Order: sequence, then structure tokens, then C-alpha cells
Amino acid sequence: MKKSKIVILGGGYGGLITSRKLEKLLKENEAEVTLINKHEYHYIATQLHKTGAGTASDDKITLHIPDLLKTNKVQFKKGTVERVDFNNQQVCLEYGEKVDYDFLVLALGYEVDTFGIPGVEENAFQIRSFRSTKAIYNHVIHQFEAYQVDQDPSRLTFAVAGAGFTGVEMIGELVEAMPKLCSKYSVPVSDTRIINIEASGTVLPGFDQKAIDFTTNYVKKHGVELMTSTKIMECTPTSIKLDNGTNIPARTLIWSGGVRGNRLLEKLDLPVERSRVKVDNYLRVEGMTNVFCIGDAARFMKNDKDALPPTAQVAIQQAEVCGPNLIATLRGESLSTFSYHHKGTVASIGNTAAVGNVFGFKITGLFAALMKQVVEARYLFVLGGPALVVKQFAKIKKPHQQVSVSRNK
Ligand SMILES: Cc1cc2nc3c(=O)[nH]c(=O)nc-3n(C[C@H](O)[C@H](O)[C@H](O)COP(=O)(O)OP(=O)(O)OC[C@H]3O[C@@H](n4cnc5c(N)ncnc54)[C@H](O)[C@@H]3O)c2cc1C
Repeated sequence: MKKSKIVILGGGYGGLITSRKLEKLLKENEAEVTLINKHEYHYIATQLHKTGAGTASDDKITLHIPDLLKTNKVQFKKGTVERVDFNNQQVCLEYGEKVDYDFLVLALGYEVDTFGIPGVEENAFQIRSFRSTKAIYNHVIHQFEAYQVDQDPSRLTFAVAGAGFTGVEMIGELVEAMPKLCSKYSVPVSDTRIINIEASGTVLPGFDQKAIDFTTNYVKKHGVELMTSTKIMECTPTSIKLDNGTNIPARTLIWSGGVRGNRLLEKLDLPVERSRVKVDNYLRVEGMTNVFCIGDAARFMKNDKDALPPTAQVAIQQAEVCGPNLIATLRGESLSTFSYHHKGTVASIGNTAAVGNVFGFKITGLFAALMKQVVEARYLFVLGGPALVVKQFAKIKKPHQQVSVSRNK
């Protein structure tokens, strides 16, 4: 009998955990599964800010996907998806390659939303992928090198747009990195500026007051210039224009003003709302019985008004249901509905401080930072068991390396 073909697009949290689920649950020769991802590595997106600041080594943030697949039930294919032909059930990759499917999982993740602010798309750096954050780090290093020659203060002015979850994590990492970089390039720390620009009136909008107060005090204590209720109007390669008329001379703006679903999904003939694909309670694309969509790409309504947020926690939980639902579809059995269980949120501010809420308990400081490590360790455990946890935690940051990577790829 012809084996059914399952194709998973995207090797992020959603796609990888779905693959691992299928490895565990599929019988031998029950289906042919292919996981397609742009790169051979999976990046731990929740730690990308560390790559941007150079505070974690590349091999801590990236994992070789074929090594994570434990059986021959799932085949990995490196490729960039360009289109999906839903009528002929084919995925079209770059260079004209086509991959047939019977069942498809869309797990293509997020993209950064720059809201059309002039110059941001072209001149700001993005926390979008391993490559885009590596480009941040290479740029920072270059600014330190150039400063030694021209002493232009705009080179050592590092601005982060957005004081939400990702913005605060990026700021925390820059605070951590700056003294080491200054010492390496023999520059006084007082020559550097770290600026956090946020349109709303507070850091971490949506977090509780304890977390907000802790974060505000922590970053200010570490010399960060916090500009809340301030909007960026324009960004050029050498300056940032604010709505209060100020023009900040700066060559680095790291944009973390918001994310949206992968733009590719809007080009496909899919029910897209607010840049994400509408899915039913079983995580199938609305109106389709053989196409699932999970993670940041999916718009799953938690109630009549609101969709679930784009988080790794949601992507992982959805993948844990998507895998079994694929198998149920294949076997003609009934599917399980997805329901989300929020376990908490922890935002790091460098290595030794964090804020958040875990199982209803508000936490701040070093304890919260340790909890963040526990959360990261748990993910590694789900992916690769205790061996992967030990292997990744044993990795030590190597001296700053210069790797040539272009911006925002
Ligand atoms: C700095 C930072 C910190 C974060 N911290 C947290 C946190 O603490 N907790 C939390 O829950 N969430 C956090 N998040 C959010 C979390 O990372 C995302 O919600 C999560 O990555 C979504 O998983 P996903 O599988 O949907 O997509 P992704 O992890 O983005 O994976 C998508 C995959 O698809 C691939 N891809 C994209 N387009 C194509 C294409 N055309 N062809 C082939 N492959 C393609 C990408 O390369 C990627 O591998 C953080 C995000 C950032 C940036």
C-alpha cells in the first residue's frame, strides 16, 4: 500500500516538536515524514538576544536538526519554501524543487513588524533569526573597532526600540556585554550609551507592577536611558528621530517593536487574519482537513475576541497536539481539540536577573533568572532528553568570534 506523505514546514519550536511526536507515535512504515527548514540548524529563538549581544556561543543557540531526529521515521530536508500548491498538494521550494504531500503542517513562524516607520526596515537590526542576530553582534564589534579610530560617539550609542518582552531581554544582554566589550577594545564604559525607546508609558506592558518596577530600577541602575511614551519617527544609518523632536546620533537601532506571522502565508490562498492563519479547534487551517498550522504562524482564538499570543510555549503545546492529530487523521480516528495551559512567563534581564510569573507566583531577581534557566532546560529535555540538557549547559562562551553574516537574513 502507498505510504501517506506528511510534510512539516519549519524547523522551529512547532515543527521540531511535531516531528519528535511523530517519531514516537508513528508505526514503522506507516507514513513518510519530511521536515523542511531553511537551514540545517534549529535556533533557540528565545535566546536570540544573547547572540545579538555576543553573550552566548553560537553552538548554545543553534542545534543541528538531523542530530535531533532520533529515528529514520522523519527525514530532514534543507530548503526554502516559496509557495504551496494546495490543489495539487505540492510544496514548491526555491530552485523549482517540488515536494508532494498528503498532510501538511505549516510551522513557519514569525517575522518582525516595522509598521512602515521610515528607514526602520532598511537601517534597523532585527531579532528575527540566528543570522539576523549574528549580524547585530558583528555590527556592534565593528562599531567598537571603528570608534578606536574616529571616536565618533554615535558608534557606541546602542538603541533598542520596544521595551516589551524581547526589547527588555535585549537591553539586559547589552548591559551584560558592554563592560567586557569596553575592556576588550580599551574604551571607558562611560563612552557607551544604551537607550531603550518605548511608545507606551511603561516597560513590559502587560506584566504586573512588581515586574515593571524591578525592571525599571534594574536597567536605570545599570545606566540604561529609558525613554517611555516616546515614538520613533524615522531611522537613518546614523540617527534616530523621535516624536519629541530629538534626533539621537546612533548607528545601531535594534528593532523589537513587534512581530507578525510569516509574510509567505499571506501570499498563499489561506484564511489569514492579522497576518496569521486562522485555525480550528483541532489546529487545522479553517476549511481544510489535511493542512494544519501551529505556532506563531497560526491564529488560534482563545475566546471570541482574542487569539493566543505568539510564544514558544504556545507553539510547543500546539505541536504536542498536532502530532497525534496528524496520526488520527491518517488512521481515520477522531481528533483531539487543543486547549492552552499557561504555565507562566519569565523575561530575562541579563544572566543574573529576570522577572515573571510562574504558576501564579510573581518572581524577580536571581531566583527568576534561575527559573528562566529551568524553562530553557525543560525545552532541551523535551527535544533531546537529559543528554542534550547536559551537553548544552556544559558549553562555555568562547572568546568573541567574528563571523561574517549579512543583515536580517
Ligand atoms: C528574543 C526572543 C525571546 C523570546 N522569549 C520567549 C520566551 O521566553 N518564552 C516564549 O514562550 N516565547 C518567547 N519568544 C517567542 C518564541 O521564540 C516564538 O513564539 C517561537 O519561536 C515560535 O515558534 P514557531 O515554531 O512558530 O516558529 P519559529 O521558532 O520562528 O520557527 C520557524 C522556522 O521556520 C523556518 N522558516 C521560515 N520561513 C521559511 C521558509 N520560507 N522556508 C523554510 N523554512 C522557513 C525558520 O527558519 C524557523 O526555523 C521569544 C522570541 C524572541 C525573538
